[in-house]
Amino acid sequence: MGTLLRLPSPPILITSQRSNLSFTPLLHPNTKTLPRKFHHRIHCGKHGNFLDLKPISKPESLDFDLSWVDPSTRSRFDVIIIGTGPAGLCLAEQVACHGIKVCCVDPSPLSMWPNNYGVWVDEFESSGLEDCLDKTWPMACVHINDHRTKYLDRAYGRVSRKELKMKLLEGCVSNNVKFHQAKVWKAEHKEFESSVVCSDGNELKASLIVDASGFASTFIEYDKPRNHGYQIAHGILAEVDCHPFDLDKMLLMDWRDSHLGNEPDIRARNSTLPTFLYAMPFDSNLVFLEETSLVSRPVLSYMEVKKRMVARLRHLGIKVKSVIEEEKCLIPMGGPLPRIPQSVMGIGGTAGIVHPSTGYMVARTLAVAPVLADVIAECLGSTRMIRGKPLCHRVWNGLWPLEKRCVREYYSFGMETLLKLDLNGTRRFFDAFFDLDPHYWHGFLSSRLSLGELAMLSLSLFGRASNPSRFDIVTKCPAPLVKMMGNLALETI
Ligand SMILES: Cc1cc2nc3c(=O)[nH]c(=O)nc-3n(C[C@H](O)[C@H](O)[C@H](O)COP(=O)(O)OP(=O)(O)OC[C@H]3O[C@@H](n4cnc5c(N)ncnc54)[C@H](O)[C@@H]3O)c2cc1C
Repeated sequence: MGTLLRLPSPPILITSQRSNLSFTPLLHPNTKTLPRKFHHRIHCGKHGNFLDLKPISKPESLDFDLSWVDPSTRSRFDVIIIGTGPAGLCLAEQVACHGIKVCCVDPSPLSMWPNNYGVWVDEFESSGLEDCLDKTWPMACVHINDHRTKYLDRAYGRVSRKELKMKLLEGCVSNNVKFHQAKVWKAEHKEFESSVVCSDGNELKASLIVDASGFASTFIEYDKPRNHGYQIAHGILAEVDCHPFDLDKMLLMDWRDSHLGNEPDIRARNSTLPTFLYAMPFDSNLVFLEETSLVSRPVLSYMEVKKRMVARLRHLGIKVKSVIEEEKCLIPMGGPLPRIPQSVMGIGGTAGIVHPSTGYMVARTLAVAPVLADVIAECLGSTRMIRGKPLCHRVWNGLWPLEKRCVREYYSFGMETLLKLDLNGTRRFFDAFFDLDPHYWHGFLSSRLSLGELAMLSLSLFGRASNPSRFDIVTKCPAPLVKMMGNLALETI
């Protein structure tokens, strides 16, 4: 079934006009109580909003037996992976299941991952990881404006960080992956051997170093200026009195701006650089809320994002009783790929895998890790002895074959186009986008389309767009289009 277009259901909350938070929300009909551990007095910050509330959850460590490196044995590995985020652990498990000796280095391999990950359920099903979702919603919805809401017939899920990390760690341990608790300071390379120097003074050697240390990596080199866009967002997992969201739908994007009716300055800024609300309602009193700037360059100020969120929650009548977790989100998007090839291999946030138009990455990394692992195994497995430069060439091209690099250019073109749209342009864009055949919008958001399919998507999007949206495309896209064509030409030379 395709995207359904319906009028939004009438709001359940009655909110007062802006009067210093003195609203009287009606209780949501499905209001349930929170688990006991979250019961406590309502705290309101000194400004009367949630920004002053301190998150009540503390960083957790997993209770798991890892197999640690004994540095005194000076053991040598086939592959060293820097970082045990989703990318590093998934690749470690996949490479090691080919019988290859893998070591993961991270300052805290057993810490819980800090980010709150959302994915489309079908993406996790195709990686066999659906048991690592702790909550799913059968549908998603997008508020284009006050009068138009799109209901998306595609299930969405929240990743259980604990389940996923435990599952990957179990896979690592059963495939004999070793762990070393330290920060990597530098990577060094000889013709057929590389090594990492760690913060504890130990040096570990391997045939291949893979950097999975996330966006802030210093190990990966670029030969072009890194003109990223940035997704910035402020998120809270909150205990609330009540909220207006349907419990069977996650709110992918709320582009309404009626909450800024009494904030003319913010409203004007939002019309030029819009933000939207993303919400995962877990039950009537527990919800993850995130005010998000899809992409901006230079990055929108974090304080501005928070102010908009305060105004929005106030307007929606959402009174935060406690903040369980807080998420400060900054995701570099788009920009050039790392230099291909280079001595250190990359995966995850360091390797250009983040979707340039959406900021999503987890599902795609989990899907490409087995592909990259196969290439590594082909080179380092017992029958082949490909090392040094030929190895780096093979692995980088295994992750980024020409077709995928061209496809990424298209997604970056999508980001450059989004950067040029104001609130109304963005609304028109998503109005047409979610009317596309689901094959196209699902495929675009999940990085599954070929170049040919992306060309069909563009034609279909243009065909479905309103006249003002076509005007946007014709007037705002030529520069990004020329840039994309130039980059495509460079890639294919
Ligand atoms: C707040 C936030 C929310 C996000 N939400 C989503 C989402 O909902 N869906 C989605 O698909 N994507 C999301 N992303 C994007 C992306 O999926 C995440 O950033 C993801 O965590 C990247 O995974 P990674 O394994 O590449 O790096 P990270 O998760 O950043 O892990 C890097 C690891 O490397 C370690 N490390 C760093 N430096 C060193 C060093 N020198 N030596 C050794 N170890 C080191 C760190 O300790 C860490 O364990 C989000 C990003 C952020 C920031």
